[in-house]
Amino acid sequence: MEYAEILHRCFRCGYCKLPSSYQDLNCPSYLKFRFETYSPGGRMWLLREWLDGGIKTSERFQEILYSCTACGNCVEHCIFPKFKADLLNAFTAGRVELVDRGVLPRLVSRYFKAIYNYGNPYKLLKEERGKWAEGLDIEIYKDHEHLFYVGCAGSHDERGQKMTRAVASLMKRLDVSFGILGADEICDGNEVRVMGEEGLFEHLAKQNIETFQKAGVNKIITLSPHAYHAMKNYYPFFGGSFQVLHYTQILAGLIGKAGFTMPSKPLKVTFHDPCYLGRHNNDYFTPRVVLGAIPGVEIVEMDRSKVDSLCCGGGGGNFFTDILGGGPDSSSRVRAREAAETGAEVLAVACPKCAKMLDDAIKAEDMEEKLRVMDSAEILIERLVQANEENETATSVSR
Ligand code: SF4
Ligand code: SF4
Repeated sequence: MEYAEILHRCFRCGYCKLPSSYQDLNCPSYLKFRFETYSPGGRMWLLREWLDGGIKTSERFQEILYSCTACGNCVEHCIFPKFKADLLNAFTAGRVELVDRGVLPRLVSRYFKAIYNYGNPYKLLKEERGKWAEGLDIEIYKDHEHLFYVGCAGSHDERGQKMTRAVASLMKRLDVSFGILGADEICDGNEVRVMGEEGLFEHLAKQNIETFQKAGVNKIITLSPHAYHAMKNYYPFFGGSFQVLHYTQILAGLIGKAGFTMPSKPLKVTFHDPCYLGRHNNDYFTPRVVLGAIPGVEIVEMDRSKVDSLCCGGGGGNFFTDILGGGPDSSSRVRAREAAETGAEVLAVACPKCAKMLDDAIKAEDMEEKLRVMDSAEILIERLVQANEENETATSVSR
């Protein structure tokens, strides 16, 4: 197994499962299961024993490997500088080994099969891919400046579609030149890679690169930080070098200059950092710039934010397989409670998977009355509508 040489170097001191303050549990799988083997350090020792033949490839062992959300907290907070950068690589390598040995949780096999057969994990036909755009007058990519790559959750999940429509509508309003692939778009493969199916990832990456190159794409705007990560950092290994931007990185320079009229009522917002924009790509700044540029929005931070942010629990394929599972100790519900404690009315997100995970968590916590999950485009569009209504009321009163 790749990275096997680092497994014996872990002290099992446990710092990797905590944030910088050392006060909370910040590894989603340890937070949920509270067994040392579900922690990063425990996972290191478990992998080492498994490779040495001391333990069998049980269903529990597979579950432990796939309950990791690839959030990167351990990479950030392990105290051993010599190998910390490769912690997550070692866990991915463990999953690659499971794939090679053909011993996978049923839900993981199903996920890979669906993507292989349909190009998405929802088992939907390609004709369904661009349906989110109906009625929005969005063009298929031709000679636009940017390709808007939407991804599986943004194309097929109901909550994700809502966010996609908001982002696309706002980009149109801001005169961003973009087109979509519609039926020709397939999965970006980021989760496939993290879940250890290297061959399928290569297949998806090469197919996407070919589609992009044939269409003449140079610049890509992604809805999802997961696609952003894969296309920016892994596609170049397969000959796909594009300028890749997360959608907040396009909006950041445009919203402030747009001169939007906003409602008089202020809005308190707290922001949940998506792992693949924050910890994996070190961009904690841009989504806050976008939110801060919306007049009337006040940002309040949660106790855990930026490098210490708690993952929503949807990474590493868990959004689809749900191996991590729900319940009061699931990181999505812990995160929803943490957001509510700030007194914010809106829990802002920048990823369609976070949107769905946290939406569901707020419902499970019965907090729908006091906290809503919205992305920056949804917030802005809602505030434009409110400003319009205020304006109409003021006009009718003055008549
Ligand atoms: S902080 Fe690093 S050395 Fe300590 S238990 Fe975690 S992985 Fe092992
Ligand atoms: S990547 Fe996240 S979920 Fe996985 S072991 Fe590290 S801290 Fe835990």
